[in-house]
Amino acid sequence: MAQVYNFDIVILGGGPAGLSSALYAARGNVSTAVIDINTFGGQPANYMTLENYPGSINTGGFELMEKFEEQADLFGVKKFPMQEILSVDLISNPKVILTSEARFNAGAVIIATGAQAKKLGIKGEKEFAGRGVSYCAVCDGAFFKDKTVTVVGGGNSAIEEAMYLSRFASKVYIVHRRNELRADKILQERLKSFSNIEIIYNSVVKEIAGETAVSKVILCNTISNEISELQTDGVFPYIGMTPNVKEINGQIKQDAMGFIHTDENLKTSVEGVYAAGDVRVTPLRQVITAAADGAVCAVYAVKYLETIKEKVV
Ligand code: NAP
Repeated sequence: MAQVYNFDIVILGGGPAGLSSALYAARGNVSTAVIDINTFGGQPANYMTLENYPGSINTGGFELMEKFEEQADLFGVKKFPMQEILSVDLISNPKVILTSEARFNAGAVIIATGAQAKKLGIKGEKEFAGRGVSYCAVCDGAFFKDKTVTVVGGGNSAIEEAMYLSRFASKVYIVHRRNELRADKILQERLKSFSNIEIIYNSVVKEIAGETAVSKVILCNTISNEISELQTDGVFPYIGMTPNVKEINGQIKQDAMGFIHTDENLKTSVEGVYAAGDVRVTPLRQVITAAADGAVCAVYAVKYLETIKEKVV
């Protein structure tokens, strides 16, 4: 039989939101577990540098997340890495989380499962995954030394990753569906100094093609509908995020894209369930907002535990 654990608070996801809520929950003197399908750190662990996390000048994303983890450790947070969440019952009392390794009973749950890269959903994307199609420039950029790559999207991620890829690739195209980028103005300004990055506006990628690996993309001009080919060795789609909520769907109030609705205390539509970071409906998805969310969630989850009569632990 699977191992059974009882905790006051179980946190789903060990990125900045999850680790910050773990720190605040443990400091609230309640037993706290944090579960992740991978190791801890979430998306920022893949960022080369974090220029906009106050106090972390020239700190790598991985380094910063290691510090988050270390600090949670100091206060006795129990960490459960490499556990796939199979099912979640948020309505029952206690709330129950079944993972690939164990059963967790929880008085309160904080959902901090984050979001993942949206897929283009076009021909060739799946077929060439790992053979030219990548969603992680930091992980795969070095494979494209002196090659041509195409980044899809016009947001902060697309621009930052294009700039990162330009260190390796001889040429970087950014394909954006409109005539104006969505990225912050400061990034757009900085982009101008990159001589090997070219933006193709008003265009979408219709298909990714090649023999054994990616060799070209088929573009469609969104104004003229003209079809053209662009020779490229790699495709990096950065077209936004989709929330990691598979096991939660249907139990909680979510928006049309699946992001979780919360109130100002980050409580969800279910008593004793809170959401923090990229997984919730929020105007800004940054490490700093995720960390702040984690703190708010934990404080209110601890207050909630004080109000329920039957404690899990
Ligand atoms: P995003 O801001 O939502 O931008 C997504 C981009 O992809 C948009 O330009 C969008 O076009 C385009 N797009 C969406 N669906 C598409 C499709 N099917 N085909 C072609 N293009 C498509 O997403 P993001 O850049 O991943 O950023 C996510 C969040 O993280 C944002 O809040 C962002 O500010 C934040 N972030 C911040 C930083 C930073 O501050 N350093 C770095 C990375 C990310 P439209 O513009 O036409 O909608």
